[in-house]
Amino acid sequence: MSSIAASLAQIEKGLRKETRLVAVTKTKPLILLMEAYEAGARLFGENKVQEMVTKYEELPKDIQWHMIGHLQTNKVKYMAPFVSLVHSVDSFKLLKEINKEAQKNNRIIDCLLQIYIAREETKFGLSEEEALDIITAPELATLSHIRIVGLMGMASNTEDLNVVRNEFRGLKNTFESFKQHDNQQVMMKELSMGMSGDYLIAMEEGSTLVRVGSAIFGSR
Ligand SMILES: *Cc1c(COP(=O)(O)O)cnc(C)c1O
Repeated sequence: MSSIAASLAQIEKGLRKETRLVAVTKTKPLILLMEAYEAGARLFGENKVQEMVTKYEELPKDIQWHMIGHLQTNKVKYMAPFVSLVHSVDSFKLLKEINKEAQKNNRIIDCLLQIYIAREETKFGLSEEEALDIITAPELATLSHIRIVGLMGMASNTEDLNVVRNEFRGLKNTFESFKQHDNQQVMMKELSMGMSGDYLIAMEEGSTLVRVGSAIFGSR
């Protein structure tokens, strides 16, 4: 078994069935992505649109591509034909752009709102209040080609796992409280939290999608 296959098997074994693994393939060459594919991985996460497009074109079409990185509106059109889930929506403007490009491609694109939960000031994302404003905005009903299917967050980059756990727990609480606003377009189904260093804690706190890179492919 390749080391990628072994790592994937090891991670999958530790996940409960409600938590799916997104293999974060950013910066990795196609040959390693194919190794992960052969080992059964089908959800791949990328953080740059151009890199995701190139890989999409080269690799089997049953891969589901997840955009996990900060997104500029002018790049949305390149991924709109195929992206499976956008984890990193952090403005209404971006949502409108995704809707426009989804419509051109005659599809509905599923999105997560990225919530800012970490102590660091560098992380992108919305506050809980800003996210609530988006899911309750009357204008949302006009965006018929997107759905908001959940939330995403990144915990602080700290050794203190209690801090990490509390941040995940806070996001889970937000996720649960937003469920009262569920309708045809907003449904809190997916909670994307957890990376190589903290995915088990995230899972324990209710994550449905963990985004794991270096624990599968080695460090960058
Ligand atoms: C790179 C990245 C990951 C994966 O990080 P690892 O520590 O390599 O598992 C997860 N989420 C986002 C948003 C990323 O950019």
